[in-house]
Amino acid sequence: MADTRRLFFALEMPDDVQRQIVQWRAENFPDDAGRPVAAANLHLTLAFLGEVSAEKQKALCQLAGRIQQQGFTITLDDAGLWARSRVVWLGPRHASLGLIQLANMLRAQAARNGCYQSPQPYHPHVTLYRNASQTVAIPQPNFRWQFKVEEFVLYESVFEKGRTRYRPLQRWPLGIRTSKEE
Ligand code: ATP
Ligand code: MG
Repeated sequence: MADTRRLFFALEMPDDVQRQIVQWRAENFPDDAGRPVAAANLHLTLAFLGEVSAEKQKALCQLAGRIQQQGFTITLDDAGLWARSRVVWLGPRHASLGLIQLANMLRAQAARNGCYQSPQPYHPHVTLYRNASQTVAIPQPNFRWQFKVEEFVLYESVFEKGRTRYRPLQRWPLGIRTSKEE
């Protein structure tokens, strides 16, 4: 589509967590489990925007900048298969309230600006495989990866040379400023 970008808000994963996940995946899944997501592409989507014009991008970025929220911690301690969408995922057994609030706020802002949002409730997850085998056995989630989230990011999804890469466009820190700091 002319003059649009494929955009989404997401949380970046720390490099060491990306590495540990990829190692766990290599040790616990067969080669034919599906199409593995590259280590550098492991992320947690907050709100998918789809194809967005420059004008709409600007409006959504302004709204994102108004979000006042503290940082939070994410614990990845669960894994599963969504057979219908053929996705193997990792996620939190209990998502922190901060994560749900941030995602719901960004999703609501997107919906108000005409970006279609699925009526399904938000399910925080990190995609491990796409086009997963619908019969792949999911190993026991014998891990507990934790990281602090202190910012959220607007990414452009770029498909070139046969692969998808995410380009960070803008970042917003989390943490409500006290009047002393201003
Ligand atoms: P590819 O589709 O090329 O295999 P990808 O799915 O990672 O790679 P995108 O389709 O651009 O790349 O998606 C970017 C992010 O947005 C991913 O986290 C993806 O799961 C999510 N996403 C994509 N489409 C939707 C949708 N319709 N609703 C909700 N989230 C979506
Ligand atoms: Mg996709």
